[in-house]
Amino acid sequence: MARSYEYVCPECGNVVEREYRVPSVVRACENDCGFDHYVRTDLLEKVESVPEADRPDDWDDLGNEEKVYVALKKGVISLPDLQ
Ligand SMILES: [Zn+2]
Repeated sequence: MARSYEYVCPECGNVVEREYRVPSVVRACENDCGFDHYVRTDLLEKVESVPEADRPDDWDDLGNEEKVYVALKKGVISLPDLQ
């Protein structure tokens, strides 16, 4: 059985599965969110583990991809995670 990966809509939390592993998938959401970057769920989980002290003041306003970038800079996500 092929391994699949889950990607989540940043707007509504809709989840889709794909058989390939990439950081994010750009697709039109079924729930009228428009074209969005669905982010791989395990990346999002790591993003949530960025310590409060390492989060910028505008953390809550950042998009998922910006959060991934912060997590990368803080060492919570490593480059192999993005493959
Ligand atoms: Zn959506």
